[in-house]
Amino acid sequence: MALVLVKDEDIRYNKRKNEIKCRLCKSDETRITSDGEPIWARDSDIRGNWTGQFICYQCCYKRDKICYECGTEQITESVRMFRQYNKDIWTGNFICQDCYGRKNIDYKNRNIILKIGEGEGSLLDVVVSTVLEVPTYSIYIADKRLPFGIIHEGYGIVGIKASKLRYNHWYFNINDYISADTYFLIGFDKGLKNIRAMYVVPTEERKNNGRFSIYENSKIYGDLKIDHEPYNKIYKDLINRLTEPHK
Ligand SMILES: [Zn+2]
Ligand SMILES: [Zn+2]
Repeated sequence: MALVLVKDEDIRYNKRKNEIKCRLCKSDETRITSDGEPIWARDSDIRGNWTGQFICYQCCYKRDKICYECGTEQITESVRMFRQYNKDIWTGNFICQDCYGRKNIDYKNRNIILKIGEGEGSLLDVVVSTVLEVPTYSIYIADKRLPFGIIHEGYGIVGIKASKLRYNHWYFNINDYISADTYFLIGFDKGLKNIRAMYVVPTEERKNNGRFSIYENSKIYGDLKIDHEPYNKIYKDLINRLTEPHK
C-alpha cells in the first residue's frame, strides 16, 4: 500500500514533531522541505491502515530495492518489486515478483499455482493490484484456472465485482462456484466514468446468498466501505491512456 505523507492531524497524536522516530531505522531525522518541514510517511499495514507509526524519507523512498529472497537488485523498472510484510507489517525489505509468486504457492494449503505474465489481467484487476501494490497473476488450483487475478497476503485471493448505478442502486452477486477469499465490490456511476464507492467483503460475510443490493447513500454496509478515491484515480488514468489517440 502506498505510503502517505503525514498531515498535521497525524502529528497531533504523536506529541511533538521532534519526537517522531522512524519505525525501521529508529532515526529521528528525515528529509526537510525547503520551508523547513520534516517529511514523514505514515507507516501502513498490509491493508493500508495506518499503524500509528512513521517512516523516514530515506527508508521510504531511497533504499536500494534488493529482493530479500533471491538477492535480485532492481536496476530498471522492468523488475517489479513489492514490499515484504511479516505479520501484516512492512519489514523494510522488498521482494521481487518471481519470489512473491513462489512464496504464495502453499497459500492456505490449497496448493495454488501462480503463473506470472500470462496475459495482463483484467482492467479492474490492474486497478486493484496497483493500489494494493501486488502483481496480477493467473491463478490455478491443480490445472483449473480460477477467474481471479490477485493474491494478497492480507486479503488472500481477491475477487472483483463491478456494478454501475441503476435507479440509485448497485447490484452485486458474489455467488461464484469457486469463491475468492475477499471480494472487492466496485460501484460505478451510470456511464462507467468514475468509481463512486467501494466495499471490501470477506467471503464469510456474504449475505442473502451473496447478493448485495446497495443503495447509493446507504450506511448499511458502512463497515465494509473503503476509500475509493485511490482506485478511482488509477482507473481514470488507465481509461485515459487506453482512449488516448496513438501518436
Ligand atoms: Zn528510517
Ligand atoms: Zn526474488
